[in-house]
Amino acid sequence: MLSNQNRSAQLDALRETFDIIVVGGGITGAGIALEAAIKGFRVLLIEKNDFASGTSSRSTKLIHGGLRYLKQLELKLVHEVARERFVVYENARHLVRPEKMLLPIYRGGSLGVTTTTMALWLYDLLGGVQKKEKKRMLNKHLVEETEPLLNKENLLSGGLYVEYRTDDARLTIEVLKTAQTKGAVCFNYIEAQNFKYGADGRINGVEAVDKITGKNIVFASSIVINAAGPWVDIIRKKDEAPKGKKLRLTKGIHLVFPYSKIPISQALYFDTNDGRMMFAIPRQNITYVGTTDTFYDGEKENPCVSKEDVDYIIDNITKTLQVSIHTGDIVSSWSGLRPLIYEEGKSASELSRKDEIFISTSGLISIAGGKLTGYRKMAEQVIQMVEKRGINRKTDATTHRQILVGGHFKSEDELSAYIERKIGECRQIEISREQVVNWVYRYGSETDCIIEKTYNFYNKGIRNRNVPIMSELMYCIEKESVYTLADFLIRRTAILYFEREKITTELCQILNSIIGEQLGHSETEKADSLREFEEAYRQSILFE
Ligand SMILES: Cc1cc2nc3c(=O)[nH]c(=O)nc-3n(C[C@H](O)[C@H](O)[C@H](O)COP(=O)(O)OP(=O)(O)OC[C@H]3O[C@@H](n4cnc5c(N)ncnc54)[C@H](O)[C@@H]3O)c2cc1C
Repeated sequence: MLSNQNRSAQLDALRETFDIIVVGGGITGAGIALEAAIKGFRVLLIEKNDFASGTSSRSTKLIHGGLRYLKQLELKLVHEVARERFVVYENARHLVRPEKMLLPIYRGGSLGVTTTTMALWLYDLLGGVQKKEKKRMLNKHLVEETEPLLNKENLLSGGLYVEYRTDDARLTIEVLKTAQTKGAVCFNYIEAQNFKYGADGRINGVEAVDKITGKNIVFASSIVINAAGPWVDIIRKKDEAPKGKKLRLTKGIHLVFPYSKIPISQALYFDTNDGRMMFAIPRQNITYVGTTDTFYDGEKENPCVSKEDVDYIIDNITKTLQVSIHTGDIVSSWSGLRPLIYEEGKSASELSRKDEIFISTSGLISIAGGKLTGYRKMAEQVIQMVEKRGINRKTDATTHRQILVGGHFKSEDELSAYIERKIGECRQIEISREQVVNWVYRYGSETDCIIEKTYNFYNKGIRNRNVPIMSELMYCIEKESVYTLADFLIRRTAILYFEREKITTELCQILNSIIGEQLGHSETEKADSLREFEEAYRQSILFE
């Protein structure tokens, strides 16, 4: 199980030499662990904080082909990621949902009618888009009808096309859970600190620290892969001074508003004042908007959202939509760092989103750049590099058709039928329709396990409004390595971002004490867990 229950015993049992150690538990590391495990390599993944706590919980949460990269003529990149959208969707249908996107075209905007028609046509072509999801161009009248909130002045027409919406952190967790079912060993809260080398100067292990106990651990392996996202260069420096290309970080923020403040009928992709593009995405009771793209050199753990970032987003929304919004309306926010490859003379938004692999003299393989969407392809390339270094796969299996844990639905109809069945099963235990739908879109067919836990509480006579979330938490402790309250309320459920109204002091205390009981936390650990979440809660509406 991907769990911190019996963590010490699990760690003590790891005495073997692995084929591969992956440093970093974001989507890149998770994808590599899955690809490696599926090919029969013995793989260990270590993450210094929680899984997906870096960039992989702070993106726009879209599985998209990067339409805007067409402007930069990155045809190969668009071809690869646009095609990959459908693979990611088919492997996790519950978590990757088709989302219609409207692209309005304004006189004087960065895209004209002809260029947009051509770009969307090319996007369909490069992405191998299915007939029913191909783009549609709309005249001005239809655009207004589709999204009545759009500013009408200078509006010319628009394009309607399909992308996919996901939850980045959940995608990372599901990839890790799947890797674990294929034999990968994955731990959060273990930090790689240094490398071990053989007499030939080649890397053959990692010196790490268990951040929970403070214990030092040495792991042995034939290959070490650095998938540390924004920290890739820091890890490279521990091995040797990075040669050649280096990373340049850019920051992107998102703001969350109550749906009533930005009640758009559907997702929008629109021009900004400075020639960039921005998304506005409705989701249940909120609408989130982003993003920015500015060079960043500050601390990497928790990049803050500045007042300037907020003003930039608000200015661009109010320029495009007939809404009245202010800083005080923001209910949550997040800020992430893109680990991009530095190119002399290019602005933040001009830097390529392509991934890049670096191999050091001692054999450390580092990967950076890329997109959430392309995680599977990046992992394939990295494992090909491993094989070039003489460590051979044991099977030819691929991740192309590897359904992620919980995603075993062959069609939308099958998924809908499952949801209806679960709603029926939950009537007796008074779980709302909305709750069941939420669970299925988070955990897919694993919802069965959560419902079973709810029945267990009921059978023990525990019947109150917190039972559903308590059941969900129990599942995440047992199968998703939750260790702190923030792991659960931010990375496993995104409640901090999308359902903030549910968070009360009383609920936090109940959930935190369940985590404490299940994992044997000391009083200090319980207090630290609460404090850490309170800080994240405060930060998410603090703009400096
Ligand atoms: C604002 C924004 C919006 C984006 N939107 C999209 C989008 O909509 N769609 C899309 O496809 N892509 C998007 N991206 C890109 C995508 O999010 C990233 O490419 C991806 O998440 C990077 O994942 P990663 O695993 O490489 O890095 P990370 O997720 O940062 O993972 C690296 C991990 O390494 C860990 N680590 C670091 N040092 C150590 C160590 N010493 N020991 C152990 N672990 C360590 C970190 O804690 C971290 O968890 C967006 C990015 C940003 C910033």
